[in-house]
Amino acid sequence: MILRRVAERTLLNVSALLADRAPANGTLILAYHGVRPADEPERGERSLHVGWDRFLAHLDVLERCAQVVSLERALSFAPREQTVRKQVVITFDDAYEGAVQLALPELARRGWPSTVFVPTDFLGTRGFWWDQAAEMTGGALSSDIRDRAVDACAGDALLVAKEIPLASVESLPWYMACARQEALVEAGRCGLVTLAPHTASHVNVAAISEERLLDEVRRSLAWCQQFESGRPLLAYPYGRWSPSLASLLQSAGISHALRVNGGWLTPHVSLSPMAIPRMNVPAGLSAERLELGLRGYGMRA
Ligand SMILES: [Zn+2]
Repeated sequence: MILRRVAERTLLNVSALLADRAPANGTLILAYHGVRPADEPERGERSLHVGWDRFLAHLDVLERCAQVVSLERALSFAPREQTVRKQVVITFDDAYEGAVQLALPELARRGWPSTVFVPTDFLGTRGFWWDQAAEMTGGALSSDIRDRAVDACAGDALLVAKEIPLASVESLPWYMACARQEALVEAGRCGLVTLAPHTASHVNVAAISEERLLDEVRRSLAWCQQFESGRPLLAYPYGRWSPSLASLLQSAGISHALRVNGGWLTPHVSLSPMAIPRMNVPAGLSAERLELGLRGYGMRA
């Protein structure tokens, strides 16, 4: 671990002497999930819950290297100041209690906007199946279990519970719960938090019927739009999607849909509004790696 940090720091120092390879006028939309308090041990699906100290270190990198803008502004491709080379958007999938209670107030303190993608049926519940499953398997889902749950069971929590051994949801720590509606509303009082759909029950949209897809998206969107900060932007659960879903999603009222990976967003004419790229931020991503990513030098954990 220490050797890796030294290597990353060395790489960062070297890259500072090289050309910045980030695309001109590019925007990096960061996809976070949960945030783990500093005094809590790692639990659940480890890759999803970035530690508090590391999250703060990420924010310090962003403060130094980029301008944080809202997702709506990035998607409008509004002209930016000449001096601003890099734009970054901060998003959170799943509305984890840790992200809502810890991260959103810190971002508000810095005056930065963020977007939370909310699986609305889960609001106020104790947690998600993938954290329960990871508790049974030492902290990370195997690709076999993940494929069975996300593809064969369409990511449907009720079906997954019949197929895969899960730890008790009550055993999960508080920060892995899905936030209560009141907590989200409270966090949004600063006027900097956008709420957007993540489907209602966090299903794999590529593995369900058209009828169910419309119902999932419409219900989730209706919940978000009861608030002034609600927007018709969808993040695909599990990152699963298909280009063939575009017209269906538009008919459900969605203007843009976001993948969980894909890299930089650039103002390219052929970009589909239903396949907006993001950069997944795994919990293991060091601040040095994030800074390298902002300079266009890859961003694997
Ligand atoms: Zn999700």
